[in-house]
Amino acid sequence: MTQTNQSPPLSQAAQRFLSRKDFKHFINGKSTPALSGKTFATYDPSSGAVLARLAEGEAEDIDHAVSCARAAFEGSWSRWTPYERQALLYRIHDVIDRNFEELAHIETMDMGAPISRTANYKPFVLKVILFFASQCGSVAGETLPNGFTGTMTMSLKAPVGVVGGIIPWNGPLPSQWWVLGGVLAAGCTAVLKPSEEASLSILRTVELLHEAGLPEGVINVVSGYGGTAGAALARHAGVDRIAFTGSTATGRKVIEASTSNIKRLQLELGGKSPNIIFADADLDKAVPAAGMGVFGNSGQVCYAGTRVFVQRPILEEFYARLVAFTKTIRVGVGFDPGTQLGPLISARQLDRVMGYVKLGSEEGARLIHGGERLGGSLAAGYFVSPTIFAGVENGMRIAQEEIFGPVVSVIPFDTIEEAIGLGNQIEYGLGGAVWTRNISTALTVVNGIHTGVMWVNCYGVIDPLVGFGGTKMSGYGAKGGRAHLDAYLYTKTVYIDL
Ligand code: NDP
Repeated sequence: MTQTNQSPPLSQAAQRFLSRKDFKHFINGKSTPALSGKTFATYDPSSGAVLARLAEGEAEDIDHAVSCARAAFEGSWSRWTPYERQALLYRIHDVIDRNFEELAHIETMDMGAPISRTANYKPFVLKVILFFASQCGSVAGETLPNGFTGTMTMSLKAPVGVVGGIIPWNGPLPSQWWVLGGVLAAGCTAVLKPSEEASLSILRTVELLHEAGLPEGVINVVSGYGGTAGAALARHAGVDRIAFTGSTATGRKVIEASTSNIKRLQLELGGKSPNIIFADADLDKAVPAAGMGVFGNSGQVCYAGTRVFVQRPILEEFYARLVAFTKTIRVGVGFDPGTQLGPLISARQLDRVMGYVKLGSEEGARLIHGGERLGGSLAAGYFVSPTIFAGVENGMRIAQEEIFGPVVSVIPFDTIEEAIGLGNQIEYGLGGAVWTRNISTALTVVNGIHTGVMWVNCYGVIDPLVGFGGTKMSGYGAKGGRAHLDAYLYTKTVYIDL
């Protein structure tokens, strides 16, 4: 691993945006201060310095935003045809395309992910927008055979109403689109609550949506803390659906809050995904993919392949290759184009990750690389070296709990049955992968592992056409695929007396 600390300048557009220094909510098409007048600081995780101040939303701000979203939902937006919403999404696509560099720079400043990563979100985000644009016209009910003489029956699909989107900090620039896309394609409206740690790319995105012609009140953003603004959104009786991505613990609170008015939910929660590497795998591909499958975004990815199971005959070779690969990874400030891993999001996350590194050694796992907070020119930021634990047992806490940092647990196995058994011994079920040249081994593992996504000889590919989601305690509800739009609609059955 090498460190980098060069900082080429921000784009002029990102500089202009960030130079405002004080950011307000975006409600009903307007920049709106918190009703209490309170603000809070957001930090640059590369240096720990205050980047900007944001309006601190509380229950009353959420209430105001939800009433604007409701008014928009009941107003002229409800009369937009599918073609009009599709055309809007195409205009949005073009505006986001033109302004992506600015958005990527804002994201890098705000949450630390290197520019090599945030700039690469562009093709994905644009595909997600195109996917939802393509879905607008496919909303359809059914015409059903008569059950009773003299009656015709049919079903219609109608938008569910106001959606609350609770967005985490680990990649708000792409992840907000899973909410925005469904809302706009279905004809719903929304209030987004970004994470207090990383709100800025969402605040800029909502401005761009309005430049593309989004009507006032359709998408609103309230910044603030999860325990206040987020909780108020989750329990608000005027919200019909919540789309939440975050920890399983907070997801449970969102489920409890949803009982107030029986909200529909989509929850993408924690993960501890198994990445299973057989002795016949192509290690030239499997080793870097396993490394970046867990270290990418400094490990702050819900589907990170944090449990790497390696078949015993190649174990020592795998360790040697993984350590050699990890030594080539460049950790540093996000604006150096050579940086591959940036800092963790916050001092709190740094403490959490370093706590798990200490725990791993105490549990008897062998630390064979990394495990340090980085010093020197990076000392003021929240940088951790990519960390490899060898000889891990699947029952250890480092193998069972979501660390959300660049820490991998390598766990040996002998047989396919053992790999499947160990892979499934976990409360989560988000992602997983298998590496082998044997198709029968690959499909046996795919069928045997209980997760929402399985990758074969690759890791982390996500196509909005087919979607992504979890099982077990990783949550429920699809992101992408045909099921996504359906979840923003309800079915209305109509009986017509002939
Ligand atoms: P949280 O689950 O607490 O945060 C996720 C989102 O929920 C944020 O927008 C947060 O806002 C909001 N939130 C927090 N409390 C509430 C609440 N009571 N009601 C409604 N919304 C709420 O995660 P943390 O940021 O605390 O991170 C802790 C751990 O969670 C990580 O280490 C990681 O393991 C996991 N995590 C998983 C993610 C994933 O993609 N699956 C994403 C983020 C975290 P705010 O940030 O302002 O508190």
